[in-house]
Amino acid sequence: MFLPTTPEEVRTLGWERLDVILVTGDAYIDSPFIGAAVIGKVLLAAGYRVGIIAQPATESGADIARLGEPLLFWGVTGGSVDSMVANRTAAGRKRRTDDYTPGGLNTRRPDRAVLVYSNLIRTSFKQTCPIVLGGIEASLRRVAHYDFWENRLRRSILFDAKADYLLYGMAERSVVELAGLLRTGGDPKGVRGLCYAGRELPADCLALPSFAECARDKDTFTRMFHAFYRNNDPRTARPLAQLQDSRYLIQNPPRPVPTSEELDRVHDLDYELEVHPYCARQGEVRALETIRFAIATHRGCYGECNFCAIAVHQGRTVSWRSPGSIIAEARRLAAHPRFKGIIQDVGGPTANMFGFECAIKLRQGGCPRKRCLFPKVCPHLPVDHGPQIRLLQELRGIKGVRKVVVASGIRYDMILADRQNGLPYLRELIRHHVSGQMKIAPEHSEGHVLARMGKPGADSLLRFRELFLEMNREEGRRQFLTYYLIAAYPGCTLADMQHLRRFCVDSLRLLPRQVQIFTPTPSTYATLMYWTGQNPWTGESCFVEKTDAGRNRQKEVLASGERKAGTQSWPKRPGLRKAGDE
Ligand code: SF4
Repeated sequence: MFLPTTPEEVRTLGWERLDVILVTGDAYIDSPFIGAAVIGKVLLAAGYRVGIIAQPATESGADIARLGEPLLFWGVTGGSVDSMVANRTAAGRKRRTDDYTPGGLNTRRPDRAVLVYSNLIRTSFKQTCPIVLGGIEASLRRVAHYDFWENRLRRSILFDAKADYLLYGMAERSVVELAGLLRTGGDPKGVRGLCYAGRELPADCLALPSFAECARDKDTFTRMFHAFYRNNDPRTARPLAQLQDSRYLIQNPPRPVPTSEELDRVHDLDYELEVHPYCARQGEVRALETIRFAIATHRGCYGECNFCAIAVHQGRTVSWRSPGSIIAEARRLAAHPRFKGIIQDVGGPTANMFGFECAIKLRQGGCPRKRCLFPKVCPHLPVDHGPQIRLLQELRGIKGVRKVVVASGIRYDMILADRQNGLPYLRELIRHHVSGQMKIAPEHSEGHVLARMGKPGADSLLRFRELFLEMNREEGRRQFLTYYLIAAYPGCTLADMQHLRRFCVDSLRLLPRQVQIFTPTPSTYATLMYWTGQNPWTGESCFVEKTDAGRNRQKEVLASGERKAGTQSWPKRPGLRKAGDE
């Protein structure tokens, strides 16, 4: 069933009043890929009456008040993407389109959606029940953070939104515990994965440098970020506190990583795999088409690319569903009336992290000063693609499934590190799971830029490329690699982009189309480098291209070549092909 979105739907369910109302910046898609739907369904399964208000009109409080006032709490999320990232380009311009909005035009999600929705609730209901923030926007702005769009540090979003609590990370279990405590009049301040405001510094907390100290001094902000980042492992994290004006932001340690059974329960809930009719009436929601017949097999990522916040949001310990639950979901998809035989993705933040983890990490927490994949794959990580091979084989055997695509990103350094099952896995992908092109994200070619990204060197890319081409030849396939690259990353100069271009021409023998200008999103190491102009581990200063013109010039080094690649004037090298031809 859908969660109700109108008073009539609430009445139809025989409910007098809702316990929880969720407010979200996305259209309401009832899918396990949409956080608001998952939280709503988990609460519903726990016995709470939950309603949802998707993309409320913000001109007045009428829309956000249409379901009345909940008994226990309001849950507020900006949606699947931070609203500033969803709304603004890397140059700060308003985006025209939004895949999570009916009709596809970017007309419904306000900038800083979490603040706007919280303010609307406060002005519509003066003395209301607690407002609880969640989702990626709240999670990554939970302590002092650099905001690219205002070019300054901002306080915790909990304070700016005047909210009561913030649940960070993947909050299914925390939200049920919180709801239970609010229902019974208990104190939620012990819930793991929760942030709240306090007047006193709790005795057991690690005190982070205050917001004022961080705003005054970039080195202090760097120290704060290290402490924040290192206290994200559920086995070792201490509670954190940060003075912001006259109050402390207190962050409880994260929840333990979910077991397979817990993940299965979340995914085995009854999802409609549709846009709610209230939103569907307003137009097509494009995001549904990429997630309706996709399957998430695991969560978390130990890749820790420095421009990515997944390690801060989902954690660097991977947990995965049981094959039985995944197969059962695939069978349900195959029986769906709209299913055309193609499972659009089987993966997670990184496709090939399914089914194994480091025993040391599971026992005592991730190494605080060592990474699992950088500078090379840690020998303690038992990389094994066997479980994923077996899973993919089973999925292919389901009646009604013609093709199973692996569209999530692949870590090719892990394929190369798996002596037993790495190459069989790659062959499996090439034979069955690549739809003409495999997307990979080397991001750059220059060693010092890659080191600042926390990405493997270009040598492993070239080894992987050779293997990919050779296997395609052996299998009689004409498939190619699509490369994703970043321009204007901290430390990257125009000369580095020219070297990257030369690398693409000489070694990849094409000019990739997928070049993004780096956007400093909240709570990543890359954003810290952008703001401070320093390598946070060595203290060395590094060049950062901050002007729009300079950032565009970096992109143009590749993009202009790409345009010429479509003409006779570029390139004149025999055998050089456009992206997509490999
Ligand atoms: S031992 Fe290696 S794989 Fe395990 S947590 Fe530490 S760095 Fe990661």
